Amino acid sequence: MTEKMTATKAEKIVAVKGMNDILPGESERWEALEERVRALMRRYAFENIRTPIVEPTALFVRGLGEVTDIVEKEMYSFDDRLNGEALTLRPENTAGVVRAVVEHSMLYNGPKRLYYFGPMFRHERPQRGRYRQFHQIGAEALGFSGPEIDAELILMADALWKELGIKDVVLQLNSLGQPMERNLHRTALIQHFESNASVLDAEAYRRLHLNPLRLLDSKNPQMQAVIESAPKLLDFLGEKSKAHLASVMAILDANDVPYVLNPRLVRGMDYYNLTVFEFVTTQLGSQGTICAGGRYDYLIEQIGGKPAPAVGWAMGVERVLELLKEQEGSLQIAPLDAYAVVSEVSDLPRVSAYLQTLRALGVSIQMHASADGAMASIKSQFKKADASGARYVLVFGVDELAQGCVTIKSLRDASQVQQLEPLSQLTQWAEHLQSRA
Ligand code: ATP
Ligand code: MG
Repeated sequence: MTEKMTATKAEKIVAVKGMNDILPGESERWEALEERVRALMRRYAFENIRTPIVEPTALFVRGLGEVTDIVEKEMYSFDDRLNGEALTLRPENTAGVVRAVVEHSMLYNGPKRLYYFGPMFRHERPQRGRYRQFHQIGAEALGFSGPEIDAELILMADALWKELGIKDVVLQLNSLGQPMERNLHRTALIQHFESNASVLDAEAYRRLHLNPLRLLDSKNPQMQAVIESAPKLLDFLGEKSKAHLASVMAILDANDVPYVLNPRLVRGMDYYNLTVFEFVTTQLGSQGTICAGGRYDYLIEQIGGKPAPAVGWAMGVERVLELLKEQEGSLQIAPLDAYAVVSEVSDLPRVSAYLQTLRALGVSIQMHASADGAMASIKSQFKKADASGARYVLVFGVDELAQGCVTIKSLRDASQVQQLEPLSQLTQWAEHLQSRA
């Protein structure tokens, strides 16, 4: 056995299809986006919430609706091997946030503005902009009923596009009204599709009486004409629902945020009512929705909480980053400040203490470290310094240290002369560097 193990090289194990590693080179962009979003959320007074990746399956079945793509086809569900409990890797996080809010009576002292980051899991066909593990940033405002919070959520996403330099995204807006209004529309919708039954695909036919609104969401090209001519929910809205939509639009207008009313926009989950919206681009192929959301006034009650209105959105991080790349937008990734070159092994303890002092002041420093136990030549350390992308190289050479100094040389600006800096002045150098950053 042992012999065989040493003789044959072990087979490589690769990641699950549709689930990606995010490696250095790319991960800096993720971090930069996350930092931008954190700052944005603070400006709008949203607080961070972190919920488990695994939830009881019933949460999604009850929350999202049984006759939805996610629940019917896309969930990673399994039974707990010890107690048989039905569990699911979260396909989205609105239901999880609502579960947590209810479980911890978080609305007891008034409404809450919450946001999250994290991986979601859906068993879909992997393609550009569509993965089996993907990431969402989401914002949920719970306990608010007025249109101003719907609008504020939209303005917040719009502000992020502007800050990132993302262009050419269209805001689509619709109202799904209230359940009573939807009932009337539902009857008309079933009638319409029944009289066009010949063009429905098998899935649409099956869903016709279970969840006819889902038919409007179908991507089947053969069905687009009949979807286009279907009765519009907007025509079934009562005064109150219409006024809610009008107020959202008035706030968007006052902020010069353009939108198009799309009466076909229904979203993929059952929990929405009144305002729904999507930010869509044509630059990512058919995976063009980068952020989507809406109002879900009945979900909290459905998950067992005291009835309370709410609204939220989720954006697809992969799609936002892809679009940024497509548009050559930049995320301003902070460069490494310095690379430390050390000539003698015996100087390492002393040098490390200086580096710690600088790092405590906020300077980022990559210390040269040996791969094989021996200190590399100054020349080869310099090469590494160049390749690191650092702004400065700090040379702790024998001569420098003998004089109580360090040589500081800019790696970016050839016109900047290298300077011999007394070690006692390093703090001032760091402060100067920080003030110019
Ligand atoms: P789509 O119509 O593209 O399937 P969706 O309506 O299922 O999207 P939501 O559940 O509303 O998507 O999720 C919000 C956002 O999360 C989407 O707008 C998209 O940006 C992103 N997203 C959803 N599914 C995936 C996926 N499989 N891979 C990558 N991003 C995704
Ligand atoms: Mg989907």
